[in-house]
Parts: sequence; structure tokens; C-alpha cells
Amino acid sequence: MSIKNKHPKRIIKIIIILCALFSISFLYIKINPFFGGNPDIVSKKRIIHSENYDGTRFKNLLPTQTIEKGNIMRILTVAKSQLFPSPTKNPKGKIKSEKLEVKAIHNGDFVWLGHSTILFKTNDKFIITDPIFYNAAPVPFIEKPFEVTNKVLTKDLPYIDIVLISHDHYDHLDYHTIKEIASKVGLFYVPLGIKGHLQRWGVPDKKIIEFDWYDEIKLEDMKFVFTPSRHSSGRSINDKCKTLWGSWVIISPDIKIYFSGDGGYSNEFTKIGEMFNGFDIAFMECGAYDKLWKNVHMFPEETAQAIIDIHAKIAVPIHWGKFDLSTHKWNESPVRLLKSMNKYNNEQKKENKIIITTPKINEIINLNHLPQNTWWNNKE
Ligand SMILES: [Zn+2]
Repeated sequence: MSIKNKHPKRIIKIIIILCALFSISFLYIKINPFFGGNPDIVSKKRIIHSENYDGTRFKNLLPTQTIEKGNIMRILTVAKSQLFPSPTKNPKGKIKSEKLEVKAIHNGDFVWLGHSTILFKTNDKFIITDPIFYNAAPVPFIEKPFEVTNKVLTKDLPYIDIVLISHDHYDHLDYHTIKEIASKVGLFYVPLGIKGHLQRWGVPDKKIIEFDWYDEIKLEDMKFVFTPSRHSSGRSINDKCKTLWGSWVIISPDIKIYFSGDGGYSNEFTKIGEMFNGFDIAFMECGAYDKLWKNVHMFPEETAQAIIDIHAKIAVPIHWGKFDLSTHKWNESPVRLLKSMNKYNNEQKKENKIIITTPKINEIINLNHLPQNTWWNNKE
């Protein structure tokens, strides 16, 4: 065989291998329900007519680059930190969590289950936000949750009247979790476009209600409003921003709650704070930040500012304590948030000070019980 003929053969081989890999990936995404489904005709109509949709994708209220372009060195740093985390980056051993006591949850109680999952009861209804009980990736061996001493499974949950979803990223919407809880859920309130995912996973249409920004619904004495955040969506290779993302306002007769979902800092927090005249308690994204995606995830100092902007009396940092999704240490975000808030509070009159609470995973809190222990700082 001549040397001349060798190279074209090698190139053909590489092309065949690449085509095979592409086909396998394509089939995996098409066949595997994990990636979700497409909007039905009703959803599509609403999406097309949404003023937040540009004809192809949903868009943020501010021009937003989700990943800073051209920063190759930072991309490599992030990849290294994810693939080879330093020995001090993640919890050593199991995180000490409480035992989930569903029977002890009364109206006005909240339980942080880690990351952005909050189980709470108000007006005799059980509500859960972004329920995640497995790993945050389409394959089982990556983005595994940190181990905890008292692990909660979906079978431990009570009947859930309403599931609130903020967006369809893997760490907020999980196929296995939804499959397991769907039969004991009354209603799913989801951003526009996400109905298609739930339908593919067997959730009946009548249980799913889709929301555009500032859409609201009344349920008995409660009101739910889907509010904007500065973020993105997507579970597959060609579905970026095809479904909407956002935050939730829950107005119950006794309490006003804000759940931030994911998002970068923007002046929308001030708008939401003024629109609803502040909140009794806010669950605010505070974790998995990096300068590479600074427009779509807040640094803890920005979370502190957002808490001030939204006029929250009490705030709980979320989006931490469960997954290693960035470059920083697992417990860095509460340290930085508290430092920022303390600085603010030191300059405020007593009545204007904002309380930050960082409950243990599965610990019950309420407006009168806001634990101040810094369990995450435990050096043992
Ligand atoms: Zn997200």
C-alpha cells in the first residue's frame, strides 16, 4: 500500500467513527425520556404568542450572555475543578442532616431538603419547589448529590398539593423524581414549555398548569405568581431557552413567600419587591456561581443585594449543599452571604435588619424559629 493512500483511509475511518458517535448520541437523546418532550399544540400557541419569546427562543428581560465567550482558560479551570476537585472542595464524609418529620410540619413551616428543594405547608396545603432526589445529570454517575446522614426519598414525602418548578435544568427538574411523585401530586405549576416534559413522563394534562411571566393563579385563599429571573433553560443539545424559566411568589393568607429559582442579579428584584410590597421570607439562590456564568447565577454578595432589593424580612440561601456544580467550596456561599448581610445589618436600625437563616438539611423552620447555628462551618 502506498503512503499516499493511507491518509484518505484514516480520514474516512475517523469520519465513520464520528458519524457513529453522533448517531448514537442522537438516538440516546431521542429514545431516553430523561431529556423530556416537546410542547403540544396548546403550549405551542401560547409560546408563540408570548412577548418573552422571540420566535425561536425565550429571552431574558435584559440582554444576557449565559456563558462568557472566549474565556478558554476559565473553561479549563472549571473543567479541572469538576473532574478533579481539590480535597477540601466538597464535604468530608456525610453532611449531618436532620430526620424528615413530615407529621411535625404544620402551616407556616418550611423544610429545606438541599439545593433548591423546599417542602412547606401553608393554608393546609403541602407545596414543594424544584424537587430533586437523584443526581443532576442525564447519566447516573455524574453530579451525584453529597451524602447526608438522613437521606430523604420520594416515598418519605406526603401528598403534595402543588409542585412549583422554576426551570428545566437537571438540578431543578428530574425525570426519576417526577415519575415517582406524580401519583401523589395534585398540581404541577410550571413555566411555559415544560408541560411537554411532564407529559412525556406520564403526568396527566389536567395536573399541569403552565405560566408565562407575571401570570397568576388563585387557589382557594392563595395566589401564585410566576415572576421573571435572569437565566436560561435546556436539557438537550438543541433546546436552549426553548422553555421558560423564572421565580415564584406565593401569597397565602398568613405569609408572603418568594422563591428565586436560578438567576443572575438584575433590577427585576426591586420591581418584584415593590410590586408585592416585600416578603416575609425569601428563598434565594446562593451557590454554584462563577465569573464564567456571572449573568445567570449570582455571587453571594449579589444574593445579599437581591434580598435587600426584594424587601425580604427573612432569607434562606438555597442552591447549595447538594451538588458540586462550580469551582468554589461547598460551604463558601453561606460564609460570603452572611458576611455581606452582616455588613448591611450593622448600618441598619433594629427594625430594618434582615434575618438570614441557614437551617440544616431537613430541619423544620418557621417565622418564629430561625436557627442561627452555622453547622456548615463545622471543622470536624
Ligand atoms: Zn439553572
